[in-house]
Amino acid sequence: MDHRDLAFDPFSKPHGFFNNRTMTGYLIDDDSEAAIEYYPDEDDKVIMVVPIHCHMEVCPDCDGRGTYVNPNIDRHGLTHDDFAEDPDFAESYFSGVYDIRCENCHGQNVVPVPDENDPNIHYYYELIQGHHEYAAERDAEMRYMYGSNY
Ligand SMILES: [Zn+2]
Repeated sequence: MDHRDLAFDPFSKPHGFFNNRTMTGYLIDDDSEAAIEYYPDEDDKVIMVVPIHCHMEVCPDCDGRGTYVNPNIDRHGLTHDDFAEDPDFAESYFSGVYDIRCENCHGQNVVPVPDENDPNIHYYYELIQGHHEYAAERDAEMRYMYGSNY
């Protein structure tokens, strides 16, 4: 599986959100004991969230570019022959025609990364873990339906 298939931002809807001013990520969580009440600005409906303090780091999924080549194009790698046989494709590829916005940083080049000593950090890791398992299952399904070259 390609690392781009795992690109994922826990601090975005529907999982959570991020406050740039306080550098705090919030995971929406109605059940956990660590959840606190939060009042969104838009309306007065209270939601339950787990706050996690963060710092910004260069996005690891796009290396800070904000975009990457659509993994459907080169998930399994491209060879010199792929480009040699199709110069138009090569030109398009390198000009960024197949680039899509990074799913992790949403084109912002940096991402909030939880502080290691935050008491709630395991909620973050659990969410990431769940997403990776979901991505692995999806990958297995695609391979089943379309073979290894999907
Ligand atoms: Zn990114």
